[in-house]
Amino acid sequence: MSKSQIVKVSGPLVVAKDMPEARMYDVVKVGKEELIGEIVEIRGDQLSIQVYEETGGLGPGDPVVTTGAPLSVELGPGLLEGIYDGIQRPLEAIYNKVGDLITRGIAVPSLDREKKWQFVPKAKKGDQLEAGDILGTVQENPVIEHRIMVPYGISGQLKELKSGEYTVAETIAVIKTASGEEKELCMMQQWPVRKRRVYKQKLAPTVPLSTGQRIIDSLFPLAKGGTACIPGPFGSGKTVVQHQLAKWADADIVVYIGCGERGNEMTDVLIELPEIEDPHTGQPLMKRTVLIANTSNMPVAAREASIYTGITIAEYFRDMGYDVALMADSTSRWAEALREMSGRLEEMPGEEGYPAYLATKLADFYERAGLVIALGQDQRRGSISAIGAVSPPGGDMSDPVVQATLKVVKVFWGLDDKLAFRRHFPAINWLTSYSLYVENLQDYFGKEIAADWMKLRQQAVALLQKEAELEEIVRLIGKDSLSPADQLTLETAKLIREDFLHQNAFHKVDSYTSLQKQYHMLRFILLAEERFRQALGQKISLNKLISLPVLEEFSKSKFMAEDDLSKFDLMEKKLLEQIEAIK
Ligand code: ADP
Repeated sequence: MSKSQIVKVSGPLVVAKDMPEARMYDVVKVGKEELIGEIVEIRGDQLSIQVYEETGGLGPGDPVVTTGAPLSVELGPGLLEGIYDGIQRPLEAIYNKVGDLITRGIAVPSLDREKKWQFVPKAKKGDQLEAGDILGTVQENPVIEHRIMVPYGISGQLKELKSGEYTVAETIAVIKTASGEEKELCMMQQWPVRKRRVYKQKLAPTVPLSTGQRIIDSLFPLAKGGTACIPGPFGSGKTVVQHQLAKWADADIVVYIGCGERGNEMTDVLIELPEIEDPHTGQPLMKRTVLIANTSNMPVAAREASIYTGITIAEYFRDMGYDVALMADSTSRWAEALREMSGRLEEMPGEEGYPAYLATKLADFYERAGLVIALGQDQRRGSISAIGAVSPPGGDMSDPVVQATLKVVKVFWGLDDKLAFRRHFPAINWLTSYSLYVENLQDYFGKEIAADWMKLRQQAVALLQKEAELEEIVRLIGKDSLSPADQLTLETAKLIREDFLHQNAFHKVDSYTSLQKQYHMLRFILLAEERFRQALGQKISLNKLISLPVLEEFSKSKFMAEDDLSKFDLMEKKLLEQIEAIK
């Protein structure tokens, strides 16, 4: 530990002098209240420190002490259901200690030190263990089994392994390393947030993260281990989409990072997410969720740290072999925090005042998503799918944060306020959105869902694009001037939009559609398209075709419970019969 004194305070930035032992990104305690800060620049004998708490009242001469360690998180049982701030201080425990307003310099451990957990050993005495091997498990709650792993950097022979009730800090295992040293291990480990956690190998993602949202799964799928970006013009349904993903995505763990939206939006999430029921288990969704929240009274620097805290927690669960869905809302607020700190450090500004390293930092963050083989001898796989919301000022997509994000993420779900205004939900624009995973996922869909999945998807996308072109013409010269074939294209595109893409998040059945059912729905629409086109060739009027009763029946299929997908076969049969009947 080394001590120094403040020479200057500028908002969240504090400058201190003469601390020869200080290293970049070390955590320091600032002032008499020991506010937490991090060294972000060392220039000569001057240290710049970003402070994660209000700096009011600090002044030259106040003490600064380094801890000699980088900003780290505590990882272990008790993380789930946690609501933390950007530097992993547990908001509830702080609330219980000091009440409503987080006073400064509060030191509460991130993981409860008193609570005892039932540790069930899995490894055996005498085993030769590596980092990442599973020592045992704790049933953290009815939904998630917490796997206690040998921490990174430790390997050797298991000398002792306990069983029973322990706190996170008590010794549960002893490992004798190759050098003969005996290491005592507890259930908790620490990790510096700015470093990615180590894994064996990264793999190309090949399995979709199914979300039950038809436009996402069928048209613009995200892979398990993939990255996506979602812009959020106000009122376009961003919150609903994020809740739907948290609820329905087939991820084991959800990490939600609220980087402080404008106004009180963060508090909305704080109130709403804990109340959502997990449809898979009937338990509260929080049982498999970790929430990182930047409350309005936390300074910008904490926002900057929050995405690292969040993704480190996500990596920890990934390493256990889980699929994690990570949502960051909004990365624009995070980038603004970065910009503010950079401005105070008097760095050379890049585009719109953002630091030149914005793109690198964003890329580093998304790079931590992915499907990996975790450390340990059992070759288990885990994934992080990262979904970042962006909220550019005025919805301007040329904004540097949006542009830098689009360069790294592989899926874009373009929320569109015009669609929301027309009450078409989810308001994801099918013309601007894209997924670069479609080809990677082709094999999975082909094998697990249906051989012609890819073909149907391409046809649906092509029809929607053709519709947009034809609409231009209709606007200029009217619908009647279109050929019957083009009019049919418009009708089929309408079926795709209204009966397939439109999905009511608040309807019990419609809220979620399995991949199988999505396939059957699309297949019906495209079969109708094909047969109608043939019938048009035989001079049957389009009006008659689009008035067939089976279409009415089909339009209700999204509200139909999933138990019996053979109803779609029946509808296909009816479709062919009804076409024959009007010939
Ligand atoms: P934002 O977060 O972008 O400001 P919200 O997610 O709160 O917007 O959505 C605004 C409103 O739009 C919601 O209250 C709801 O009425 C409607 N809405 C959004 N998405 C859907 C959906 N998938 N199904 C039904 N209604 C929706």
